[in-house]
Amino acid sequence: MKIKILEKIEEYTYFIWFILLVLVAVLVTYFYDTNKKNQILYLQKSLENVYLKKSISSLTSNLKPRFLTINYVVQNGDTFENIIDSLIIPSEEKKLFLDTVKRQKEIKTLNQNQEIYFKIDRKDNVRIIEFKVEINKKKDVVFLRDENLLNFSSKIEEKILNKVIIFKEGIIESSLYNTAIKLGIKPNTIVEFARLYGFQVDFQRDIWKGDTFQIIYEQFENEDRSLIETGNIIFANLNTQGNDLNLYKFELEKNKIDYYDENGKSMKKTLMKTPINGARLSSPYGKRKHPILGFTKMHNGTDFAAPTGTPIMASGDGVVTRAQWCGGGGNCVKIKHNSVYQTVYAHMSKFGRGIKKGVRVKQGQIIGYVGSTGLSTGPHLHYEVIENGRKINSQKLKLPSGKTLKGKQRNKFEVNKIKIDVLKSELIASLN
Ligand SMILES: [Zn+2]
Repeated sequence: MKIKILEKIEEYTYFIWFILLVLVAVLVTYFYDTNKKNQILYLQKSLENVYLKKSISSLTSNLKPRFLTINYVVQNGDTFENIIDSLIIPSEEKKLFLDTVKRQKEIKTLNQNQEIYFKIDRKDNVRIIEFKVEINKKKDVVFLRDENLLNFSSKIEEKILNKVIIFKEGIIESSLYNTAIKLGIKPNTIVEFARLYGFQVDFQRDIWKGDTFQIIYEQFENEDRSLIETGNIIFANLNTQGNDLNLYKFELEKNKIDYYDENGKSMKKTLMKTPINGARLSSPYGKRKHPILGFTKMHNGTDFAAPTGTPIMASGDGVVTRAQWCGGGGNCVKIKHNSVYQTVYAHMSKFGRGIKKGVRVKQGQIIGYVGSTGLSTGPHLHYEVIENGRKINSQKLKLPSGKTLKGKQRNKFEVNKIKIDVLKSELIASLN
């Protein structure tokens, strides 16, 4: 076999040298070519020399790679016609390409920097066997040649994003939200951070200036970082007034993510302390009394000052027993969680989508938005917790904590925790 190939090569020595010469010429041209667009196409064109054309088909099958791939970046003013015309392929192939893209409604127009990929089979009859057109930063449409070679079948594919693990830490200045945004953390991640701590922290009263936080989270990015999607939080620490609150991500079952403290105790509680997007609440700079809302005055609930439109969450699972105008409370929602607890949310600007009497809600579901309806001096959420029919101070409420992992589950959690701690020290070490 080897000998046979060698003989063949000898037989075509002349042509091999000729091709090498052409290659050198092309390379030289390339280096002097200021317009560097479409180098591969250029190379192709050079090879399409009339003199060579006859002998080349027999040569290509032996010496050239069978498949040619081209990554084309759309320039301003490009059309599918001019792009396909720059490829040296039979005219039937060009026509098939144009007919195929015309039928795909997702790619009616071409935009600058959009990417098009071609895979061309050069054996025997030159054919496009696959091509791909970028729809947007998230999706491509992929065209594969059918077995009968007559047509292409298309399918839309999600692009592959790279997972990046990020570590950030900060000192809270004015609010968690502003501090985190300054550090480059995406809003979705901040809101998730606040939601996870919303079971044990009242973001309006428990967060002081100078409190610190750490967070490890996933982010999904495409190659040029033009698309970033937020992933899960892996670890977080919130240090308020010297108290460390740690949370570790743990998948007890596949695809069921939960968060536990360092002792394997679930973060989840029946009710949340901050049933509002806590990330957006400003820190009170110490235990300053609010001048307008007057936390000092005897009050049957807890007020959270927040901009109009800030989402309000159901503090726990339950059934909506009221979603209507209730006088001084303005637009209000009441939820019955179990035989012991009910919660009330007042002064809403509007109700959440589909929120009405009798509807079942999940903890964390948006039930309305902050407003100033009813007897109110400014946009805020008035939040009440009712225990066995009596209004109680929601912020002093000691709810039974979530379950603590035991036995095999606990062992698995401990291994997972060690892995996260190692990851954390690696990430911190890489910062220095
Ligand atoms: Zn109030």
